[in-house]
Amino acid sequence: MIGPRPEVASLKPYHIPEVSARIILSANESPYNLPQSIIDEIKGQFDAIAYNRYPDPLSLELRTLIGEHYGLGPEKVFVGNGGDEVIQNLYLAYGGVGRKAVTFEPMFEVYGITGRMTGTEMITILRSPGDFTAEKVLPHAYMMDAALIFICCPNNPTADLVSLEAIEALLKITNALVVVDEAYAEFSGQTALPLLAKYKNLAILRTFSKAFSLAGLRAGYLLASDEVIENLLKVKLFFNFNKLSQVIARIAFLHRTIFEEKIKVILADRDRLFAQMKKLAGIEVFPSHANFILFRTKKPAAEVWQGVLDRGILIRNTSNQLLLENCLRVTVGTPEENKEFMKALSEVIER
Ligand code: PMP
Repeated sequence: MIGPRPEVASLKPYHIPEVSARIILSANESPYNLPQSIIDEIKGQFDAIAYNRYPDPLSLELRTLIGEHYGLGPEKVFVGNGGDEVIQNLYLAYGGVGRKAVTFEPMFEVYGITGRMTGTEMITILRSPGDFTAEKVLPHAYMMDAALIFICCPNNPTADLVSLEAIEALLKITNALVVVDEAYAEFSGQTALPLLAKYKNLAILRTFSKAFSLAGLRAGYLLASDEVIENLLKVKLFFNFNKLSQVIARIAFLHRTIFEEKIKVILADRDRLFAQMKKLAGIEVFPSHANFILFRTKKPAAEVWQGVLDRGILIRNTSNQLLLENCLRVTVGTPEENKEFMKALSEVIER
């Protein structure tokens, strides 16, 4: 039988091993489910949905609502099944055979995987070893004839920020579409939004999966120029974003201030967890602008990961990524979960 395209044949399926654990701190999700008031409002809308009819292929109501919040029209907003689908659509429209995309590694792995899948040539620029920041290495992308440049801010998994000045300097000089992935911006408080009106080659990616407690729904959006959004609308699946997602994402976005309280709680808990981790001998902890913390262990990462899992807690072993030997990433959980994690980690590294 015929095989797939060569770009697909050389890929390994992206899969995070399905490991069950009592406490899940591996995917940077919110540890808090949707507030009851939002669940009740969703329930209230269930009966009125015409399930027999296709959804609005343009998700116009949701795009209008999101756009209004940022002072933008719906023609500057794109929605998809999570940031992942938006990234795929970016590659379908701007990547592909004969085109290049730049990432600053280690970075969110989906950029590379989706890029290679679409036949895009991936250019890897290494972050500064030691602190893993991208700020100083951004100029390496200035003169590349890339179609796409990804900046993840805060970056997953290193949790650092790139300054708006550095992003703007890149936007000024490059012809590429610069995608600033702000999946965790609700935690960092920094956004490239002020640059959007000035630079047509800027696109800002957001998700409902983190601060909005909706990883299970699959909803993300992109803010960009009319031209970019129009091109994404050309390549997306016709009915890509289902009716339930349109309704639920709209309700969550309408009530987004409700989530602010939990964001504050998560940030305070992150700082507490960071301070406790810093006191542990045997690990190096990296500063975080997001809802997760990267750390390096003296012991082999696989051993630490397994030891923590044996105590019922799943975290992420990131040591397969460039520069991240013996590094692991833990998501900030509830205070009880963080306490259990600290206990497990202390036992494992001091054993
Ligand atoms: N960008 C970054 C940096 C992420 O960490 C994630 C989720 N892990 C995403 C985008 C995509 O999230 P989702 O598809 O759930 O919206």
